[in-house]
Parts: sequence; C-alpha cells; structure tokens
Amino acid sequence: MRILVIEDEHKIASSLKRGLEQESFAVDVAFDGESGFDLGATEDYDVIVLDLMLPKMNGIEVCKKLRQEEQVHTPILMLTARGQVENRVEGLNCGADDYLVKPFAFSELLARIKALSRRPKSNLSPVLKTADLSLNPHSFEAKRGEKIISLSKKEFALLEYLLRHKGKVLTKDQIINNVWDYEADILPNTVEVYIGYLRNKIDKPFKHKKPLLKTVRGFGYKIETG
Ligand code: CA
Repeated sequence: MRILVIEDEHKIASSLKRGLEQESFAVDVAFDGESGFDLGATEDYDVIVLDLMLPKMNGIEVCKKLRQEEQVHTPILMLTARGQVENRVEGLNCGADDYLVKPFAFSELLARIKALSRRPKSNLSPVLKTADLSLNPHSFEAKRGEKIISLSKKEFALLEYLLRHKGKVLTKDQIINNVWDYEADILPNTVEVYIGYLRNKIDKPFKHKKPLLKTVRGFGYKIETG
C-alpha cells in the first residue's frame, strides 16, 4: 500500500512517515500543497493524508483540483486543527472522504487509513446518472442512452458538478466556484455560455426526450432528477 502524506509540519510528517512505514506502508511526503498536488496527480496512491493548512496551496484547493481537474479518486483523509469546523465541512464537500482533528492518536489515523483503503475502488467513482444520461468520471465518458456525447474538459466538469447535485438549483456563483476556481478570466456570462454548450450536446440533439438541463430564472441552473 502506498500512502501520500501532505503535511508542512516536519515533525508531524516525519512521525507519520515512520509510523506508517513500520506498518509496512510505502510513504511519500510532500511539505506544501503544490508539490503534494503534483505527486497526487501523477503517482498512484492507495490513500492520501492531506493537511488543511498548507503553504502554496491549501488542502481544500489540493483536494478540489485532484478530484475535479485530475479525476483522481484516491481516498483522501483530511487533517484539520480544532475549531476549523467550516473548513472541515468544506473539505468533505470538496471530495475528502474522512477527516481527523489534530492532535490525534496515531492508532486512530491508522484505523482510518485502513478503513479507507478497504473501500472498493469502483464505489469511489460511481457512474453519475439521471434519466438516460450517464457520466463516468473515471473513463471521462458521457452518454445519453447509447449515444456517446463528446464534451470538452470544462463541459465535462460542469456536467459532473450538476449531476453530483441533481435536482438542486445551483447558482452561478456556486458553479463558478466549483468548476472555474483559480482561473482569473471569468466573464459574467461564462456560465450561461457553457450551459448553452452543454444544452446543445445533452438536450438539443434528443428532441423526442425530456430536456434535462433547466434554467431557473433569477436563481441558477439544475439538472432534473431521472
Ligand atoms: Ca499545516
């Protein structure tokens, strides 16, 4: 089993590395968010232990980017300091699987890591579905019925976000924050434009079927539940 530890406090990082190696895990350590993200995106790990407060890129950003941009579905255990309740919620929302509050006992960390690594991989990236529209975040494939829909990376991320919250109205701000974060050049109508692209691909060609992408005037957008 391979574990990536992303933690800037050298003392904690090295004691985790030592402890996990004694349990026969192979451990890589990154001391800032950027290098942690690079490792997480390029190497194959069984579990990623991710500290929340990190230099260069914080844990939430690392987690979001791994999940959304890199389609990495490795289980992530987030480490947070006491009192960072909001961050913890944000962490779980951005795709972390579990969290542990510092200071923690090594035995608890170990138990959580073992539990996460036992989760069947297929359950970590289930195919997202509504009606006859399906999207596989792992293979990057979208289909309506049997027809394969070809999407750009951004359209795919947008559809994935809508499908993960199907039936819920999502505001433009929510969409921007989750699909476009960290990119500066977003115009006010960017979301509308991309919703249009998506509609042209998932609804327009299927005239005899129920449209799935809805505009809720004054509020935002949603994908209908099947
Ligand atoms: Ca830290």
